[in-house]
Amino acid sequence: GMKKKAEPQGPQKIPGVDHIIAIASGKGGVGKSTVSSNLACALAAQGRRVGLLDADVYGPSQPRMLGVSGRPASPDGKTILPLRNHGVTMMSIGLMTNEDQAVVWRGPMLMGALQQMMMQVQWGALDVLLVDLPPGTGDVQMTLSQKAHVDGAIIVSTPQDVALLDARKGIDMFRQLNVPILGMIENMSTHICSNCGHEEHVFGHGGVAAEAQKLGVPLLAEVPLDLQIRLASDGGAPIVTSKPDSAQAQAFHAIASAL
Ligand code: ADP
Repeated sequence: GMKKKAEPQGPQKIPGVDHIIAIASGKGGVGKSTVSSNLACALAAQGRRVGLLDADVYGPSQPRMLGVSGRPASPDGKTILPLRNHGVTMMSIGLMTNEDQAVVWRGPMLMGALQQMMMQVQWGALDVLLVDLPPGTGDVQMTLSQKAHVDGAIIVSTPQDVALLDARKGIDMFRQLNVPILGMIENMSTHICSNCGHEEHVFGHGGVAAEAQKLGVPLLAEVPLDLQIRLASDGGAPIVTSKPDSAQAQAFHAIASAL
């Protein structure tokens, strides 16, 4: 009889995509999506062809943060056309479900959706594709690293011990998966009162720098806890795009330049 064609082994390249960078965190709510969208916009501002794949299955926030909505079209019924805003080509698992519909898919379905978003989306020619991962060390992280060639991972954490503990596990996982750690970002680092200018460390400060040094990975940036950053993201135009010359945008421009 006919022999089944062997499945391709090992990580593959996504057609047209030069580099894949995963944005990860140990814990939810530390600002991984905020960093992903701002970094994507900063790379675009520097003339890089950039895509953002929102693979945060438990809380896809890129459609809101990048101000895109609607179902992606599939003219040929096989491939999916990504959406585009602020110079960023994007696709989100949130565009494949209703916004307030909880993702209760089983593992294999989830992995199918992830693979579809990687391989069936017409990403076009991209210098870099950022992947906004769900928090933690689960199936999505494993599948991504096993199916696609991931060039590096950026770990986002707040300075708190609990978040750092989980970040450490994330770094350990990527090392086991042979994905290089590009560095850590301390988010919600310093808060400067918009009334009086007083500087406060709501979640502590410097914890990530110390951890990065201990683990031997670079500290890429310390991003302040800042009302304007949240308001911009909630409004669908990240601070890097809505206020490109602001002090808050500088941290993201610096990370983009270093990549
Ligand atoms: P995660 O992707 O890690 O779950 P998000 O990026 O969705 O986290 O951030 C959680 C919430 O905190 C969002 O409302 C976001 O706007 C806000 N946020 C994230 N980073 C900052 C920051 N540096 N300053 C102010 N608000 C922030």
